[in-house]
Amino acid sequence: MSDLRVSGLSKRFGQTAALVDVSLFAVSASRTAVVGPSGSGKSTLLRLIAGFERPDEGEIVLGEDRLARGRATVPAHLRNIGIVSQDGALFPHLDVAQNIAFGIDKSADRHALVLKALDMVKLDRALVERRPHELSGGQQQRVALARALARKPRLMLLDEPFSALDAGLRHSVRNEVMQTLDEVGIGSILVTHDHAEALSFADQVAVMRNGRLVQAGAPRDLYLRPVDPETAIMLGHAIILPARIGEGYVETPLGRLAAVTLGRTGSGEIMLRPEQIVLEAASGDGEGGCRATVGRIEFAGPTSIVSVVLEDESFGGKRLEFAIRQRSDSGAGAGARVSVRVRGGGHLF
Ligand code: ADP
Repeated sequence: MSDLRVSGLSKRFGQTAALVDVSLFAVSASRTAVVGPSGSGKSTLLRLIAGFERPDEGEIVLGEDRLARGRATVPAHLRNIGIVSQDGALFPHLDVAQNIAFGIDKSADRHALVLKALDMVKLDRALVERRPHELSGGQQQRVALARALARKPRLMLLDEPFSALDAGLRHSVRNEVMQTLDEVGIGSILVTHDHAEALSFADQVAVMRNGRLVQAGAPRDLYLRPVDPETAIMLGHAIILPARIGEGYVETPLGRLAAVTLGRTGSGEIMLRPEQIVLEAASGDGEGGCRATVGRIEFAGPTSIVSVVLEDESFGGKRLEFAIRQRSDSGAGAGARVSVRVRGGGHLF
C-alpha cells in the first residue's frame, strides 16, 4: 500500500509563503486533482512531494516511508515517484525507445521494458524509432507517461500534462492516462487550473488558494457544497444570491428555496449551479416561478449562454443578472419575459 500523507507542510521562498500548513491524505492507488489559480502553491506542493524542494516544516509519508520531515528529506531519485510535466520533457535527440529506457539499469532487459511501457500507454510499437518531433502532442505525452511508468513508480505526479493539447485530444489522452493508471494500480496527483478536468479526473479534488488548502473531498461534494463563494466559482459557474434564512428554508430573489440551514437564521448568501435553473414562458397569470427578462444570448453551437435579468423587489430592488446555458434550438429569445424555476435546493454560505 502506498497511501500518501502530507501533514502541516509549509514552504517559503524569501518573502513569499508558497505553502502554508498544508495537510492532504490520498489513499493508495487513488486519483487526486489539485486545483487553484496561478500562484496558489500547486506546483510547490508537487515539487515537495517529488523531492525537488525541501519543506520548511511538515511531513510527507508514502506508505511506510517518511520522505520528508522538515528540512530532513529523502533525495528525489530515491523516492520512486514518477513525474510527467506539461511539455513531457522528452530528450529531443533520443528516439522513443531511448527516451523510455534512459537511466534504467543497464542489466535490465531494456527492450522488453520499453515494449511493455508502450503497451501500457497504448502506443503503437512501430513508433519506437521516432524522435519526439516526429510525434503528435498526444503521442509525446504518452511517451512521457511510458517513461515514468517504466520505472515502476509508487506514485505518479502529473503537472498540467494535458494543458498543451487541443480540446478534443486533451479529453481522449486524459481518459487513456486515467485508464492506464487504474490498470497498473498507481495512485496519482494531478495539478491543473482547469476545474472540469479536476472534477472528471479525480476521486478527490483539493482546492488551493494563497498557499493554503481550502477544501478537499469528492468532486460532487465540492461542486455542490463548496466551502466559500470563491471555491464555488473555482469549480464551475455559480449563481450567488442574497438570502434570508429561516428554519429549513431560505428566501431568495428566486423565491423560497430548500437549503440546509443548520439552525442558522438571519441573512447570508446562497449558491445555485446554472443547470438548476429552468426558464419557462411567462404565463401572465402571476403563477409559477419568479419573473425575469432574457438579456444577451451568446450562441455556442448546441447550447447558448443566456443572461437572465431579474428585477428583484424583495431584496432592495437591485437588478440581478446571471448566466445559464440553454439548448440553442429552443427557448426564449433576447428581450422575452420569462418565468424562472429552480430545480433542487441551494447551498448556503
Ligand atoms: P502554482 O503552481 O499554483 O501556480 P507555485 O507553487 O508555482 O503556484 O507558486 C506559489 C508561489 O511561490 C508563487 O507566488 C510563486 O511566485 C512562488 N514561487 C514558487 N517557486 C518559487 C521559487 N523557486 N522562487 C521564488 N518564488 C517561488
